[in-house]
Amino acid sequence: MVGFDRRDAADILMNAGPNQQRGRSKSRNAPAGPSPFREQDVAPLRAEKFRDPHLTADGSTRASVALEKLDTLWFNTGTLCNLACASCYIESSPTNDALIYITAAEVSDYLNQIDASGQDVREIGFTGGEPFMNPAFPEMLEGALSRGYQVLVLSNAMKPMRRHEATLLGLRDRFGARLVMRISLDHHTKAVHEAERGPGSWDVAMAGLRWLSENDFALAVAGRLLPHEPEGEARTGFARLFAEEGISVDAMNPSRLTLFPEMDETADVPEITTACWSILGKSPSDAMCSSSRMVVHRKGEPRARVAACTLLPHAKGFDLGDTLAEAAVPVALNHPHCARFCVLGGASCSA
Ligand code: SF4
Ligand code: SF4
Repeated sequence: MVGFDRRDAADILMNAGPNQQRGRSKSRNAPAGPSPFREQDVAPLRAEKFRDPHLTADGSTRASVALEKLDTLWFNTGTLCNLACASCYIESSPTNDALIYITAAEVSDYLNQIDASGQDVREIGFTGGEPFMNPAFPEMLEGALSRGYQVLVLSNAMKPMRRHEATLLGLRDRFGARLVMRISLDHHTKAVHEAERGPGSWDVAMAGLRWLSENDFALAVAGRLLPHEPEGEARTGFARLFAEEGISVDAMNPSRLTLFPEMDETADVPEITTACWSILGKSPSDAMCSSSRMVVHRKGEPRARVAACTLLPHAKGFDLGDTLAEAAVPVALNHPHCARFCVLGGASCSA
């Protein structure tokens, strides 16, 4: 594994502000204010944390996670998105192409690597940006489904997706529930959703969600919790919304409605040591990087590469190499996301 160096940490922290990141500029309909999901008055991350891949700031042995089995291989289709959400964790926008469009040939090459290795990968995931912005996305979808995989697509269900209705209906007819569409609906209220995603984003997303539901797609929703919003209340709110809108998603089922914890990398969080697993009653097997990897193509790099997970496409310490074989190495939990999102928040990106 490539080491995590100080410049990476500085880069991560410097690039944390909404709408100020790598080549990111506000779109016409970008949210006007700060994210409603961001906690206020939090203590800032202490500078001495997340510096050394082996040791935490107090000299304890940093926890790491081995790849137990590659269950899900993600592809980032590119960071371009029709939206510029206030706290998009990957800094997507209509202008940010820090991750360029991955090609169908690159996707096919990694699927060939799986075939050649004989690994029993269950699922292929596609995320962005907005995957349907990538002109080759239908070809990638078809390729992954034709090879027999379960396929999970993360989309905002807006105009880029709606342009491909005919293709999607065809894939549904041929592959049924092996194609799962997971739609981001940040909150069960229009006001909070649009404070995060921008004016006009709610009605269009709801129309897309209704279209998917009416056409019997295997459907899931990804939402978020406001600071201090109890999960039960959020699920009840989503259940009410889905009932009113006729959307067939069981809001009480965590695999159908995923509610993500916040990912503020500028806020202080404990580092995870090897002793934390037993103290917290958690296992390395619970972290996404024990069972998944993500392929990205960064702008300026000659080819696609494999990152440890969906959350950290840019941090060099989490770039594991060109090939899936090279990327089958343990990952040091040397980023605030590892602590807040995965270990303490207990989140996972897969269905
Ligand atoms: S829709 Fe998703 S990828 Fe696009 S800016 Fe919003 S959070 Fe980021
Ligand atoms: S953010 Fe989570 S999945 Fe990614 S490397 Fe850290 S622990 Fe693993």
